[in-house]
Amino acid sequence: MATRLSPRELLEKLVSFPTVSSESNLPLVDWLEGYLEGHGIKAQRHYDPTGKKAALFAHVGPEVDGGVVLSGHTDVVPVVGQPWDTDPFVLTEKNGRLYGRGSCDMKGFDALAIWALVEAQYAGITRPLQLALSYDEEIGCVGAPAMIAAMGDALPKASAVIVGEPSMMKAVTGHKGTASYKVHLKGHEVHSSMLHKGVSAIMSGAKLIEWANMKNAEGQAAEPRDVDAVFDPPFTTVHVGMIEGGNAHNITAKDCRFELDFRTVPGDDMNAWKEAFLQRVAEVEAEMQAIVPSTGIDLVEGFNVPALVPEIDGEAEALARRLTGDNSSNVVSYATEGGQFQDAGYSVVVCGPGDIAQAHQPNEYLEISQLVAGQSFMQNLLKELCQ
Ligand SMILES: [Zn+2]
Repeated sequence: MATRLSPRELLEKLVSFPTVSSESNLPLVDWLEGYLEGHGIKAQRHYDPTGKKAALFAHVGPEVDGGVVLSGHTDVVPVVGQPWDTDPFVLTEKNGRLYGRGSCDMKGFDALAIWALVEAQYAGITRPLQLALSYDEEIGCVGAPAMIAAMGDALPKASAVIVGEPSMMKAVTGHKGTASYKVHLKGHEVHSSMLHKGVSAIMSGAKLIEWANMKNAEGQAAEPRDVDAVFDPPFTTVHVGMIEGGNAHNITAKDCRFELDFRTVPGDDMNAWKEAFLQRVAEVEAEMQAIVPSTGIDLVEGFNVPALVPEIDGEAEALARRLTGDNSSNVVSYATEGGQFQDAGYSVVVCGPGDIAQAHQPNEYLEISQLVAGQSFMQNLLKELCQ
């Protein structure tokens, strides 16, 4: 019979694959597929358009709807330029902590989920358990939607999803959505003494940035809706974090580029925000073109991750609360694949080991006590699935 690895042994193995989002995750997927097959579990792959990455999902238990999905991502953020004291791709124990890239975000949960799936195979569960491991989460939750659709076609439909992003094993029921635009304003150069005949891409860009300032001020001043009041801040924010443009202090700028991103509260419609921004872009572009018709504004949409909306009497939340005993109310500031599962009709909760403060850091670690807490969570889950 094939060896059954412990969560810690599984984590060691997963961390040894340098699955940085820019690289292939297929070595990890190959290994995992083989490991599950050794235990009689037939996993399925869903490839990305390049064929260099794949999501992996699997089903254990009776072929019926209504199971539980354990959802994680296989990719990790880069280590380049970070001062690590240990090899980031060798799980290293020090002072009760397990160091390694992805130990916290989120191969610790992946290891627990794989462990639980194999245990479920031997435990004779009566309610199904599914595993869903995506790719390209770290570059804007790009991989999950296609995986979720493929799972819907290939497997019985589960009803509750546990997304194991680091939450210190607390039940997290909501997060904001995010979306971004790359903005390129194309102006017209003249000497600044004649600026009425030129179009400064920077000064036109400033109008769009001022729109963001105005929207933030409006959000700050408004009374938050109940669904949004738990967030800090309890309103949608619009932010510009990078900008470049211009060649000289006395020439109207030919180009200005910046990135603008939204963090929307669950009570707001992301599309409405986008439309409002596009309308302001059209106004500013018209003003530019009234002076020089060849000027304009190019937009490229970046990431777009829906909010996780706190559910009323959510099945996944109730499950996580039974399994953890945690009754505190928690929302988080980071985005997850949870909103994407929710959009596909699942009940979703975020609950996983480790502290999000560790994610993406040099010397990222997972407390061993969190791995232990995660294992008892999975043991409780298995008991419940056997009832
Ligand atoms: Zn993550």
